[in-house]
Amino acid sequence: MFKFVFCFFSAFSMASPALLMRVVASAYSVAEKAATVVRNVMSSGDLGIVEKAGPNDLQTKADRLVQMSICASLARKFPKVTIIGEEELPTDDVTEDLIEDGHCEEILKKPCPAQYTGIKEEELVIWVDPLDGTKEYTEGLLDHVTVLIGIAYGGKAIAGVINQPYYNYEAGANAVLGRTIWGVLGMGAFGFQLTEAPAGKHIIVTTRSHSSALVNECITALNPDHVIRVGGAGNKIIQLIEGKASAYVFASPGCKKWDTCAPEAILHAVGGKITDICGNSFQYNKEVKHMNSAGVLATLRNYDYYASRIPNTVKESLVP
Ligand code: AMP
Ligand code: MG
Ligand code: MG
Repeated sequence: MFKFVFCFFSAFSMASPALLMRVVASAYSVAEKAATVVRNVMSSGDLGIVEKAGPNDLQTKADRLVQMSICASLARKFPKVTIIGEEELPTDDVTEDLIEDGHCEEILKKPCPAQYTGIKEEELVIWVDPLDGTKEYTEGLLDHVTVLIGIAYGGKAIAGVINQPYYNYEAGANAVLGRTIWGVLGMGAFGFQLTEAPAGKHIIVTTRSHSSALVNECITALNPDHVIRVGGAGNKIIQLIEGKASAYVFASPGCKKWDTCAPEAILHAVGGKITDICGNSFQYNKEVKHMNSAGVLATLRNYDYYASRIPNTVKESLVP
């Protein structure tokens, strides 16, 4: 009897963590390696800027190296997972120095939410934005930059990692540079202090480098007290969860699934909501169209307040 009980408990405690937690724990370390690459490319002084679809759609050496690093590192550990990255690059000739095989022990120790314990590798889709806010990176607005790794199951964003490589970069030499925020639906989000925006104030965060007449028309219709214009989808979700802004409003195509997957998982994990401007939720299955054609509307609280005030003329101009 003793032997049976002992064996039962030792087998239980040594049971390997659920796949989802292993993927998140690895994505955490992979994103930290990515942040080091982002900082190293900047300090090398050679950004290797390439225009993809014009001057407002840039790629740097950091976007390329980080894409290869994240995709190859995760593919090596989880070969059956579908990984979709922003940059079109080969993953077969990645140098060993770009591979990260570590994981975050603290994440592995947390229990996986029951509804996700049975997930198999081939059921996961990972959406990777190696460097979100590239335009701002090239202009030296370094804390706008994030690395985004979003994890989807059944078409839903269920977990995500956002690394901010230059968090604290203006806080002086003693401050720790960079941070990693992560979250899982049903578990919560970690690595930051959840804060609500000031009550009764309507502070809108939006694009600074991809504006348009429609983007501005939509914001004006919401009659905000203040508008914050910053780069990056990841950075704008951080503004929401840290109480700097009450709504992220972007009435334009341009954002893609790799921009919204990790931010969505983290925002939803803390009770927020993100949809397109028309109120449709995003899908993240591997066959889905990459472009979020009908823009983005996200809030930590009071989603309905903003959704109900988006003009029909704006919604009709955006086709999902
Ligand atoms: P932004 O808020 O302008 O920093 O955009 C958030 C994300 O969407 C970034 O990854 C941008 O590159 C992308 N994005 C938004 N609008 C466009 C656009 N017109 N062309 C290319 N990328 C865009
Ligand atoms: Mg991006
Ligand atoms: Mg990018």
